[in-house]
Amino acid sequence: MEKILVSSCLLGKPVRYDGTGQTLSHPQITTWQLQGRIVPLCPEVAGGLSTPRAPAEISDGKVITNDNEDVTAAFRLGAQKALQLCMLHNIRFALLKESSPSCGRNTIYDGTHKGNKIAGMGLTAEMLVSNGIEVFSESQMPALIKALAKE
Ligand code: SF4
Repeated sequence: MEKILVSSCLLGKPVRYDGTGQTLSHPQITTWQLQGRIVPLCPEVAGGLSTPRAPAEISDGKVITNDNEDVTAAFRLGAQKALQLCMLHNIRFALLKESSPSCGRNTIYDGTHKGNKIAGMGLTAEMLVSNGIEVFSESQMPALIKALAKE
C-alpha cells in the first residue's frame, strides 16, 4: 500500500511555530493511520528549529522571521530531509499544511508578516513536487483520495 507523508501538525502534534498543532479531522486519516500508511514529518523541526519559534515567511527566495533572522538554511535542510524520508519509504504522495513557508502547497504568506497570502509553495512542498511527488493540501483531501484510488 502507498504510504503518505503528512505534516505532523495536521496529525495534532504541537510543532507549529506557536507550539500548537492543527489537527485535520477526517475519517480517512484515521483509516490510513490504522493501515500504517502515514509517515509524519515536520520539516521545520527536522531542519533543526525549536518549538515554539518565530514565525517566518518567504521573501525574495529567503525565509525570514518576523524579527529579521534568516532561517533559510534550516528550511532547506528540512525540505531535504522530507525528500530523503519519501525516498526511504517510496512515498509518492504527500498531504501538507497549506500556507506554511515549508509545507504550503498552493499559497504562502507574502513576506510582509501582515497576514497577506499569495500563490506559491513552501520550500518542502516545492522540493517534493520538483522530485515527482504529488503534494496535496488539507483542503484537497478528495483529490488525494482519488489519486490514491488509482494506484
Ligand atoms: S513545517 Fe509543516 S508540519 Fe511543521 S508546523 Fe509548519 S506546516 Fe506543520
